[in-house]
Amino acid sequence: MEEKTCEICKRIRKDIFCEYHAKAYYNIIEHYKYWKDAYGELSWEEYLTKLIENPENGVWVKEVAKYLISNKNGRVDI
Ligand SMILES: [Zn+2]
Repeated sequence: MEEKTCEICKRIRKDIFCEYHAKAYYNIIEHYKYWKDAYGELSWEEYLTKLIENPENGVWVKEVAKYLISNKNGRVDI
């Protein structure tokens, strides 16, 4: 069986990301709703940029945000 690796850290994974980056990705999706309510207008790209700039965010979240920004669609299906 061919082993697949995380798009970001190259760990063995089940989906597009490893469990750590998948968890961070789900958190990013989940929090976008609240941020959009708080800011009014907030594009997906602006949101991702804020995540990267916020020193309180963990390294997993930042890595996923950077990956999503450099990805043309900005979103992935997992
Ligand atoms: Zn990973």
